[in-house]
Amino acid sequence: MNTLLPTSIVGSLPKPSWLAQPETLWSPWKLEGEALAEGRKDALRIAVQEQRTAGLDIISDGEQTRQHFVTTFIEHLSGVDFDQRETVRIRDRYDASVPTIVGAVSREEPVFVDDARFLRAQTDQPIKWALPGPMTMIDTLYDRHYGSREKLAREFATILNQEARELEAAGVDIIQFDEPAFNVFFDDVRDWGVEVLEMAAEGLRAETVVHICYGYGIKANTDWKATLGAEWRQYETSFPLLQASSIDTVSLESHHSHVPVELIELIRGKKVMLGAVDVADHAIETPEEVAETLRDALRFVDADKLVPSTNCGLAPLPRDVARGKLQALSAGAALLREELAGAAATA
Ligand code: ZN
Repeated sequence: MNTLLPTSIVGSLPKPSWLAQPETLWSPWKLEGEALAEGRKDALRIAVQEQRTAGLDIISDGEQTRQHFVTTFIEHLSGVDFDQRETVRIRDRYDASVPTIVGAVSREEPVFVDDARFLRAQTDQPIKWALPGPMTMIDTLYDRHYGSREKLAREFATILNQEARELEAAGVDIIQFDEPAFNVFFDDVRDWGVEVLEMAAEGLRAETVVHICYGYGIKANTDWKATLGAEWRQYETSFPLLQASSIDTVSLESHHSHVPVELIELIRGKKVMLGAVDVADHAIETPEEVAETLRDALRFVDADKLVPSTNCGLAPLPRDVARGKLQALSAGAALLREELAGAAATA
């Protein structure tokens, strides 16, 4: 990709109201059977169209074919019983009823590969596909079989690697692993988290991304953020390890966050997918606000390694707000691109 500052969303977009209840996570489908299969594809087409209309450079599926970024993947695995549900604390933050691991986990068939092939057919632009990271997967389950978080994470890494290789073969250019759990379980990140993530990405020719955030703009997350103090230094654990890892790109939250921007220096040399759009606020950023956040980061990342993005998924937002934010992202990146071109011309 030759575009300077190529823009990309983290992953999810709101679903149309005829497909699922708007502004809700884990929203149940409104269609079933064939109608649901067709509806999900139509929604994916719309998601692509909206990103292209906004002028984004890297195109995602908007997660239109999945109910939730972790659970939908797990639903396709054997060894998981969705009828045996237990309530667990997700990322030490909120309770959720989750399925139980009752036996060895395995992937009987591809999960998202057909959807990715469908996305590939919609555009010639580079496409990105998001998968849950191994540590975030184990945090969304109750384990009765392995008795070890690390062991289960390694099993998931093997499964994710199979899926990622098939996504790559289906034409996916960029494969992203979502690891919000990296901002919570620091000892695990150090002891095995980054190594297990590298296992999931092993042997891929596609570019690899790890997305680490402070979560969707839902109340449990905004309440948690309020307890984190004036400076959010959670990335300090994972960044030096990721800097030394085989992962190509790190996706992080920045706009309106209390993350000290200089922490980006810790991943010097990696591509940085920088959140320049807030997902917890319905107010649409101005292009100048987006450009300002990106410009600030340029002190710590070279311009040819900066990928303007959103802080996290846009799924819980009203659709018109999400559309406005895509346009702001695109326009903000364009402003900065012009500035950089101007500076180069006068240098
Ligand atoms: Zn996120």
